[in-house]
Amino acid sequence: MPRPPQDELEVCGLHLTGVSEGGVETNIRVPELKLMFDFGMIPKEALTFNRVMVSHGHGDHLGGIQYYISQRGMMNLPKPTIHLPEEIVGPVERLLAAWSEIEGFEYHYELRGATPGERYSVGRNLTATAIRTQHRVPSVAWAIERTTRRLDDQYRGLSGETIAKLREQGEKVTHEVVTPLLCVTGDTTIDTFLTSDLMRRCKVLVHECTSWDQQRDVASTRGYGHTHVDEMIEHAEKFEGDALVLVHRSLRHKRSFAEQVVRERFPAEVRDKVFVFGHD
Ligand SMILES: [Zn+2]
Ligand SMILES: [Zn+2]
Repeated sequence: MPRPPQDELEVCGLHLTGVSEGGVETNIRVPELKLMFDFGMIPKEALTFNRVMVSHGHGDHLGGIQYYISQRGMMNLPKPTIHLPEEIVGPVERLLAAWSEIEGFEYHYELRGATPGERYSVGRNLTATAIRTQHRVPSVAWAIERTTRRLDDQYRGLSGETIAKLREQGEKVTHEVVTPLLCVTGDTTIDTFLTSDLMRRCKVLVHECTSWDQQRDVASTRGYGHTHVDEMIEHAEKFEGDALVLVHRSLRHKRSFAEQVVRERFPAEVRDKVFVFGHD
């Protein structure tokens, strides 16, 4: 099967790059955050990302893990950190141990099991919260937040010199601001979108939307643990962020068709912030 071409989309200062075809391959990279979401089949450019956020263990998302670790070992790249649902840490370790035996060299990697609701440090000032999603196997979405410090309102307008003096005197002049930058859902029904405030508040939400017509209707799509575009259209106005990026489109649907659906069927208030990701 020919490899799907890479797509790239710039939203809210983030470059989303990668491949996403439902059931075939999902690998999305965000260089500004030095994070990669799911392995897909590991496009060449994906080898250099040191940290990977895995949504679940289906082959189209996790299939490339062995190749990624093996290739990085041969290239002498640093030990990667892989965050994944805690339920699959054991099986993945066994799988990698078997592959390492087959290849005849030691694999270097760190698996970090994720508990839904927990926050993990994933870079300077960056955390990732695992949100439990609804799919056919244990799965999580990843919400990435950035923490910065901002000057308290009462000190605004003061000179740098005065603020420095206050600091010297032990005054606390700043407070923490946490910004939800990005959430990547992996595969899920729409239920998590409806229950997770954090997911709906992220500036950029990369949400799966597998079915785009009635050949597979809402009930059948839900049965497979996926989201139908009719559900997205019904609930899109609840999204509070700036860009809703729809990925994991089934191969049955052309990109041009999906873009037409966005133009013609999404509510006018949100249409301009809905993006279709992934080439045919
Ligand atoms: Zn999938
Ligand atoms: Zn899946």
